Amino acid sequence: MQKIQMKTPLVEMDGDEMTRIIWQMIKDDLLLPYIDLKTEYYDLGLAHRDETNDQVTIDSAEATKKYGVAVKCATITPNAARVEEYHLKKMYKSPNGTIRAALDGTVFRAPILVKGIDPYVRTWKKPITMARHAYGDVYKNSEIRVPGAGTAELVFTAADGTVTRKTIHTFEGPGIIQGIHNTDHSIEGFARSCFEYALSIKQDLWFSTKDTISKTYDTRFKEIFERMYDEEYKERFEAAGITYFYTLIDDAVARVMRSEGGFVWALKNYDGDVMSDMMATSFGSLAMMTSILVSPAGYYEYEAAHGTVQRHYYKHLKGEKTSTNSVATIFAWTGALRKRGELDQIPELMKFADLLDEATLETIESGKMTGDLALITTIPNVEKLGTEEFILAIKETLDKKMNA
Ligand code: NAP
Ligand code: MG
Repeated sequence: MQKIQMKTPLVEMDGDEMTRIIWQMIKDDLLLPYIDLKTEYYDLGLAHRDETNDQVTIDSAEATKKYGVAVKCATITPNAARVEEYHLKKMYKSPNGTIRAALDGTVFRAPILVKGIDPYVRTWKKPITMARHAYGDVYKNSEIRVPGAGTAELVFTAADGTVTRKTIHTFEGPGIIQGIHNTDHSIEGFARSCFEYALSIKQDLWFSTKDTISKTYDTRFKEIFERMYDEEYKERFEAAGITYFYTLIDDAVARVMRSEGGFVWALKNYDGDVMSDMMATSFGSLAMMTSILVSPAGYYEYEAAHGTVQRHYYKHLKGEKTSTNSVATIFAWTGALRKRGELDQIPELMKFADLLDEATLETIESGKMTGDLALITTIPNVEKLGTEEFILAIKETLDKKMNA
């Protein structure tokens, strides 16, 4: 069989632990036999991030701006325990945070729906796509551990030297403070990605913040969305038969639980982080959720929504059998390959991505799945497969489909 040829390389961001193991299996079993895979490889594994003082993460983000499409493996965000475990020079920032900041994009997360895995929330019939603002707020904060009594102030010095200050708190003893920010530019980019994405999939767009409490910060988000909707998107939304709807986050959460799904829910950075984990779990498994970072400039980075599955990795290291779900990582690759095919006009590559997606879902629907899905499926008599066994079962389905 002739391998599918690529024109432009994908930016490949390798990662950590169990997902790094899966990454290699997917390439070896599901991609390299069929595609003359062209990638520019960046090793974002924690050891290599440490060796390069995290420069590799910045380089991989720059490469994404150069080529337009990246695929990323899950990576460890170091905490104190990881600093010790990996003897790190410092507690590096989250690679996702660094990449998101560099691309200034919006993350769209949607569940991968498959027959036999029903959402926990019975009313949900269609996917809910979550749009997470990928810049600023608590992910780009400055924090101080206050040692004792004193006054914390918020100070802004304008370019012309004008100073604005506000007291945050007068401490009588130790405590903590945090400074966060966002920019109109980034919020506008976020809003634009959301409006455009909703239009592209013809679904309503919901947006929610806590503007009743955060009367300046969150209110600014609300104002920018409203202005852009009125000035640039109202007519296009009406023509497409979709609506833009703003509500307080508390109200949105209540409405989402009662809804049927089938809309895009835009959320600030932290809300999107937390809510997407809830959504992924409700729709089945964290491993059944895709995540795409879309920048206003049109760069795409595809990844799985889950982490590095540390617990499984330690079992794997001990030589024990694992059953780690590779679906979201497979869909990250197919998403990136499909986008590359679309941009470079390679229909065979797009077709291959579709076939691999279908083969993955059909394998599950035939009763062959990993342990996380076996626990929650309504399919009777399932066969619980090990990590690579599942990938090889997908390969078998794929080969049958390719020869059909
Ligand atoms: P996690 O890797 O998402 O795993 C949490 C638990 O969820 C697992 O122990 C497993 O449950 C289940 N799970 C997640 N993905 C699964 C899969 N593909 N197949 C089967 N089960 C799956 O989160 P974590 O253990 O809290 O975090 C581990 C590391 O990942 C951390 O260092 C964190 O910094 C990093 N992280 C990275 C990203 C990213 O790069 N996008 C995102 C989140 C976290 P059972 O153990 O019950 O089987
Ligand atoms: Mg999260």
